[in-house]
Amino acid sequence: MSENKLRITADLGGQVAIVTGAARGLGREIAETLASCGALVCCVDINEETMSDTVKSITDGGGKADAFACDVTDSARVNEVVDEVVKKHGGLNILVNNAGITRDGLMMRMKDDQFDSVVAINLKGTFLFMRAAAKPLIKARRGRIINIASVSGQIGNAGQANYSASKAGVIGITRTVSKELAGRNITVNAVAPGFIATEMTAKLAPEIIEGIEKETPLGRLGTPRDVADTVLFLASDAADFITGQIITVDGGLTV
Ligand code: NAP
Repeated sequence: MSENKLRITADLGGQVAIVTGAARGLGREIAETLASCGALVCCVDINEETMSDTVKSITDGGGKADAFACDVTDSARVNEVVDEVVKKHGGLNILVNNAGITRDGLMMRMKDDQFDSVVAINLKGTFLFMRAAAKPLIKARRGRIINIASVSGQIGNAGQANYSASKAGVIGITRTVSKELAGRNITVNAVAPGFIATEMTAKLAPEIIEGIEKETPLGRLGTPRDVADTVLFLASDAADFITGQIITVDGGLTV
């Protein structure tokens, strides 16, 4: 667990969180960070094997975590997971929609399934989990939804017609749902990371990474911790009056 790495802290004791795509990358860091602050973190991922590593790392460090295998595009399974979380752990307070994929290619060569799969996981998966989680979050009388968008959804990125459309959709749905749930004391925000060093960006050629570093005013790729700390802030009481916002974490790339 990331306790020794914490740069900010918050008291999430007694709160139950769901983090999707928690097996690796940003999702794993977010899950470990929320658990370090006392939340019981329900890790959701399509990849059961690597997800159990996240759960083990949290519980080995003294935190509380559980695992739920789920493809975020499977509507029935999403509803089932939220029901299971509530039954097993007594409620739900925080939802982090992080599961996401890229299947890059120039628009003129992009296949239908390349477009559909990215929109299904990144955007529809976010919708399905928000819809399923709304009831228990309302019941808890205080809720947090944090969606992971991307700067690609804000400024576009050649080769990512599918991905930028999905992330622009995440930004739109975040703003809409924030208006629908504000009266129930549920805040809904998104974090839009720039380029962060994870397996997703490890697929990029070294010269592309070098170019990104040069274009980024702070001169480096972000770390999963940079994103997880922002999620922690939004999940904490310190962000009580913030909703419908997109917080960009990109080292100045989009300025
Ligand atoms: P990652 O390392 O590829 O991890 C994504 C996780 O999501 C993996 O564990 C993956 O499982 C899981 N997943 C994929 N499809 C799923 C599905 N249908 N249902 C459930 N889980 C699924 O990605 P990352 O870099 O941590 O990115 C996390 C989020 O941040 C994504 O939404 C991404 O778009 C966003 N983001 C990332 C960056 C960046 O630079 N890294 C920048 C902006 C935004 P498998 O292991 O089986 O694939």
